[in-house]
Amino acid sequence: MKVAVIGAGASGLISAKVLSEKGINYDVFETGDQVGGTWIYSENTVDKHGLPVASSMYRDLRTNLPKEVMEFSEYHYDIENVSYITPSQVLDYLQSFCNEYNLKDNIKLEHLVTRVSRTDGGWLLTAKDLNHGTENTTFYDAVFICNGHYSLPNYPEVEVKEAFTGLSLHSHYYKTPDIFDNKIVLIIGMGPSAQDITFNIHPNSKQIYLSHHYTEEVKQLFPEDIIHKPDVKAIEGKTVYFEDDTNAEVDAILYCTGYKYSFPFLDESCGIKVYNNYVSPLYKQVFSITHPTMVFIGLPFRSFLFPMFEIQARCALNTLTGIVNLPPREEMLEDMKSWEKVQISRGYSENKFHMISDCIYQYFRDVEKVGNVTPPCPDMIFKLFYRAAKNRKSDLVKYRNEVFKIIDAENFIVK
Ligand code: FAD
Repeated sequence: MKVAVIGAGASGLISAKVLSEKGINYDVFETGDQVGGTWIYSENTVDKHGLPVASSMYRDLRTNLPKEVMEFSEYHYDIENVSYITPSQVLDYLQSFCNEYNLKDNIKLEHLVTRVSRTDGGWLLTAKDLNHGTENTTFYDAVFICNGHYSLPNYPEVEVKEAFTGLSLHSHYYKTPDIFDNKIVLIIGMGPSAQDITFNIHPNSKQIYLSHHYTEEVKQLFPEDIIHKPDVKAIEGKTVYFEDDTNAEVDAILYCTGYKYSFPFLDESCGIKVYNNYVSPLYKQVFSITHPTMVFIGLPFRSFLFPMFEIQARCALNTLTGIVNLPPREEMLEDMKSWEKVQISRGYSENKFHMISDCIYQYFRDVEKVGNVTPPCPDMIFKLFYRAAKNRKSDLVKYRNEVFKIIDAENFIVK
């Protein structure tokens, strides 16, 4: 069996590791000139080949999760007395992981996957060698799609009466706070990036407006001089109109409005659709139901991701190697439809069908069960994650002072 892995970020690297553990022949394709994906901070928006830089890192970022839930099961950070770390520390971790398990020989850097199509019994993958300009097409029995989903900006639909004349950018392009010095800034969104960047630019900006639909409780977590507004209805020059019929004159708009799933290299024969940011038809958000030898690692969001990538990759591997069998197609489709119904009952539309914050534990246990993944992700990791999340909800700045230490598979302490 020969397997292709698309992307050498965290999800591609753990996929490579689990494939190599079982002695499976595999190639990893990575557009960039180093491994690590989104954790590679760059001040540029295009790379040396003229391609968009995939990473959305900004200079002052510190992780919003403790490193203890940002590692793979058998490899730990060599960092003491701090839990919330910098992008370069996460990058070091991933690059050392790659070296430790000798994954490099199988990784083709500066290779852009341009096309994947279905063929008899497998997949034809075309990749472009970015240094030589040559394209090669190779047959693979299975494909792991690990291309990340924090690269292609999503913008809200807003009526533009007259084009905005100030500085306008998406958080994907945000690098340093100085661009907002002395400016009246509107930040749209309330995800982790919106929250962090608000605090990052607050000291030197003139005024911040935060547009979101969160509760009073959330508003209390921000400095008092920040003005909270509902959704933006329309833009006219430098005037922004809000849903509550108020308006404001702003110098800059920062869109922290999320990202789009995108698989430009999958041709129609792959049978994968993305509708309103929902990728389907998939079983457990991992297996293509049409052709289960195509797997997606890392689609669910609002979880702790590195351990999730690992159980997904191990689950996929166990099905590919025949250790376990997937249910019949009809059963997988039924399961997918039930999942969609559950998400609808929670009040979500398609763009939140991959959000698993309401059921992280159940999701992990389901995937582990489908793939007979042993050992499962320890309960202790969930407890640590929820402890950190609770602390974050009470103070958006100080939560990063907390230091966790894992004692053993069942226990952690908070320093
Ligand atoms: P990526 O890291 O994006 O890697 C995908 C790789 O695929 C890239 O290297 C890309 O070049 C490559 N690729 C894409 N298309 C192709 C192609 N056609 N051919 C070849 N290669 C291709 N997670 C946390 O756990 N904690 C945090 O604190 C945290 N903070 C974050 C902050 C920001 C600003 C962002 C954007 C994300 C954050 N995340 C955080 C989520 C983070 O993205 C994940 O933790 C994880 O690193 C994603 O890994 P990935 O492998 O899925 O994707």
